[in-house]
Amino acid sequence: MDDKDYLEEVEVEETKEQKDEDDKGNDYEDVCFLCHRPESKTGKLITLAKGICICPECMQKTMDTFQNGSQDFSKIPGFSFINLADLQNMIPQRQKVKKKKPKEEKQKEELDIRSIPAPHKIKASLDEYVIGQEHAKKVMSVAVYNHYKRVATGTQDEIEIEKSNMLMIGPTGSGKTYLVKTLARLLDVPLAIADATSLTEAGYIGDDIESVLSKLLAAADNDVEKAERGIVFIDEIDKIAKKKDTHHRDVSGESVQQGMLKLLEGAEIEVPVGANSKNAMVPLTTINTRNILFICGGAFPELEAVIKERLNKKSSMGFHADLKDKYDKDPNLLSKVTVEDLRNFGMIPEFLGRMPIVFTLESLTKDMLVRILKEPRNAILKQYQKLLALDEVELTFNEGALEAIADKAMEKDTGARALRAIIEEFMLDIMYEIPKDDNIGRVTITREYIEHTGGPLITMRGVLMLEGQG
Ligand code: ADP
Repeated sequence: MDDKDYLEEVEVEETKEQKDEDDKGNDYEDVCFLCHRPESKTGKLITLAKGICICPECMQKTMDTFQNGSQDFSKIPGFSFINLADLQNMIPQRQKVKKKKPKEEKQKEELDIRSIPAPHKIKASLDEYVIGQEHAKKVMSVAVYNHYKRVATGTQDEIEIEKSNMLMIGPTGSGKTYLVKTLARLLDVPLAIADATSLTEAGYIGDDIESVLSKLLAAADNDVEKAERGIVFIDEIDKIAKKKDTHHRDVSGESVQQGMLKLLEGAEIEVPVGANSKNAMVPLTTINTRNILFICGGAFPELEAVIKERLNKKSSMGFHADLKDKYDKDPNLLSKVTVEDLRNFGMIPEFLGRMPIVFTLESLTKDMLVRILKEPRNAILKQYQKLLALDEVELTFNEGALEAIADKAMEKDTGARALRAIIEEFMLDIMYEIPKDDNIGRVTITREYIEHTGGPLITMRGVLMLEGQG
């Protein structure tokens, strides 16, 4: 054996060890560095260095190229052999694709209809986290239940169950994202959240529409089967409404809606693994969107005007013409939305056709904000109370304080989003000062403290003990 052979043998052995170590205990398979096909399709891959594998076909092609070319490559100016170490730095991490399960094992893993919680159970779980929005919670629970039933049964027979994609309309900070996040967590399915404003048609600068599936795949730990049962939430969907009176081709509006159609309905989409965009360095995998639940959300700020216009037109006809401003102060105007209104707003009919479930969320009232502060399982107040309890200090908020916080949040008009910022502002001093004095047993936050006209009520440990005895 000459020196060269010996060297090759040592190198192969070393890399094989590395590869075995990589594969040990996980279900992920390597992909060919050149053609991006997974090992299950190409046959056994040849490992060149850690993370870089090539399939026999590509290896053969490379060898042929070298053998056929009679020129000495090293004499070509600018030609140098690729340094594998450099390549390793260039490729994104986590490029492996989870192996598809063999057929019999797959059958066992399939969703069991009986394991899907019934709608009332889903809603009860949502109730623990989300305050109000009763209608939205009910609609979502039923839709999700039906969706996963559809996934579990498959649709081989004639009666095909329609996909339950949803369109939720509600003001900023009313809990749209929060509802979807809570739902995904309860159902234990992967969730990807994207912003419609960042999406563009393929070929333009920005994330192309398929990038949402890359996010979903990442959320599912690169497990294609898990991703295919996940949820995609697309926020700010109203921002891609068709612009009225425009003769330009609008990149972010109508064409993005068009681009989404394929995804919403169900199609096989090639998705880059471990990156957001397709390029030569990224392996691709195929995701079928048939069973992915798409939920779109938006505030639709001018939708009320569209609804009002339609209602006014209807009521001003005939003998029973109503007052023109009848709907001006209607707080539930948004809930009267119809598909026709959404079309007038600028959503294209094909898009609306693929969103069979449309519902609205109410704007949060002051009472709801107070409840959001204290009632949810992970309410902000409970979090602060727990933090201080670790210092053995009791934290309480009197009703006046809660109302003052809610009032401040109402002024900001960003729904429940303002609450955290307001609380953080005054809790900073409390969290800083209280641990200084070991004798403090209880802090009561008052309306005066929130309104900067007084301080919190401090009770010493000794007094608390007396209270306890009395
Ligand atoms: P948006 O409707 O703009 O998507 P979010 O869902 O992001 O609003 O709400 C912001 C935050 O406000 C959430 O993280 C959540 O903590 C809180 N929140 C909003 N609405 C509710 C609600 N109905 N119940 C409990 N918390 C809520």
